[in-house]
Amino acid sequence: MSTAGTPLRAAIIAVGSEMLTPTRVDTNSLTVTEVLNGLGIDVAFKAVAGDHRADLDALLGHAIARYDVVILTGGLGPTADDVTRDVVASHLGLPLLEDADVLARLEQRFAARGVRMPDVNRRQAMVPSGAAVLGNPNGTAPGLWIEHRGKAIALLPGPPREMKPMMAGEVRERLLPRSGHVRLLRRVIVIAGRTESRVEEITQPTYASWLGADPAIETTILATGRHIELHLSTRVMDPAAGARALDEAVAQIVALLGPDIVSCDGRGIEQVVGDALRQRGWRIACAESCTGGLVTSMLTDVAGSSEYVERSIIAYSNRAKVELLGVAESAIAQHGAVSEPVALAMAMGVRDGAGVDVGVGITGIAGPGGGSDARPVGTVCMAVAADRVHTRTFRFPGGRSTVKTFAAVTALDLVRRVLNDLSIETDWARRR
Ligand code: ATP
Repeated sequence: MSTAGTPLRAAIIAVGSEMLTPTRVDTNSLTVTEVLNGLGIDVAFKAVAGDHRADLDALLGHAIARYDVVILTGGLGPTADDVTRDVVASHLGLPLLEDADVLARLEQRFAARGVRMPDVNRRQAMVPSGAAVLGNPNGTAPGLWIEHRGKAIALLPGPPREMKPMMAGEVRERLLPRSGHVRLLRRVIVIAGRTESRVEEITQPTYASWLGADPAIETTILATGRHIELHLSTRVMDPAAGARALDEAVAQIVALLGPDIVSCDGRGIEQVVGDALRQRGWRIACAESCTGGLVTSMLTDVAGSSEYVERSIIAYSNRAKVELLGVAESAIAQHGAVSEPVALAMAMGVRDGAGVDVGVGITGIAGPGGGSDARPVGTVCMAVAADRVHTRTFRFPGGRSTVKTFAAVTALDLVRRVLNDLSIETDWARRR
């Protein structure tokens, strides 16, 4: 078997009352999870604890009893509400001793800034007996590594810029031998134009068979609000064998979903469209009505997009469509502002006005008002005018912001399909 054995299981505890308010979220656990997963360690439990000793003590008891690895972040500062060090030491029955080296380093840090170290900072030099000190090049609070009855426990500072290099550096190094040198390899396939359930229906029989393969491949389907993603992962001792198995699995999905595959390396639609435009040396201009500039915002999220993004016109009113894009008033009167002829006139107007290779026109009803039986809320007409022209009417579900996001992503997907000469039939196209 090239599949690695039973994975270690980890718990993450984020300490800090601020993360129990509506204004702050725990992001450290995501960074910690990424590093652990890379070592083939599963995160089985995570929690946020306020700065209360009894709560943290109870959570710690749960985590240490059940999991092989416990990572705590936050609460290592110098003030009385920084309780992590004390609670862990007392929970494990380890006396806290002042560490002369840590104290000297703390004093040096303050001296380098020309200030005397406040007495409260001495707390940060207290180390549970037997713990190893983890250096923190970006802050005052050192981390701590404790091995206790076969369990590995790491205490890391709260600020992400301090925690991250420590987790990815020394903690990872120390965990590596415990994880049996297992590697977790992952591929992310990005899909557009299909609903999550349709992707599941098409791919499930194939990916279900991978679970019994050697190495086994696990598959998760995720709807991100923009795309559908298929995450394929395998836990292996031999990375080359794992990579080969994943390549083969990806090829099977590509064969099943063909034109709906945006990328097999996690790149989003805006990046993929940008790459396709750059490859051809083409430039794009957009005429956006109901998306209010969202398509252009997504395109310009990509660094270097000035190479291929020329301009956009947000033509929200009928007057703007006529004055700025040359849409015929008669077309609006005859077909309505939300219609394929108007979307096409917008796309051609912006393409020709800007003198670029690709023009995109989008006009629709984001809601909640403005719908009719013929054109209900969520109806969006789009056109892509390149060397040939394509128009489509879509019907998107959800509220105003969901419709806008779906419309923007679908417009970029339409550009991708047109640039690559792919089928433009999707689950969202509306029967006419
Ligand atoms: P310090 O020496 O800076 O006090 P600390 O270990 O005591 O270090 P905390 O006081 O708990 O860290 O947190 C400092 C800041 O770090 C918080 O205000 C918050 O902005 C950020 N932070 C803490 N924990 C997390 C977390 N889990 N996710 C994201 N940010 C966090």
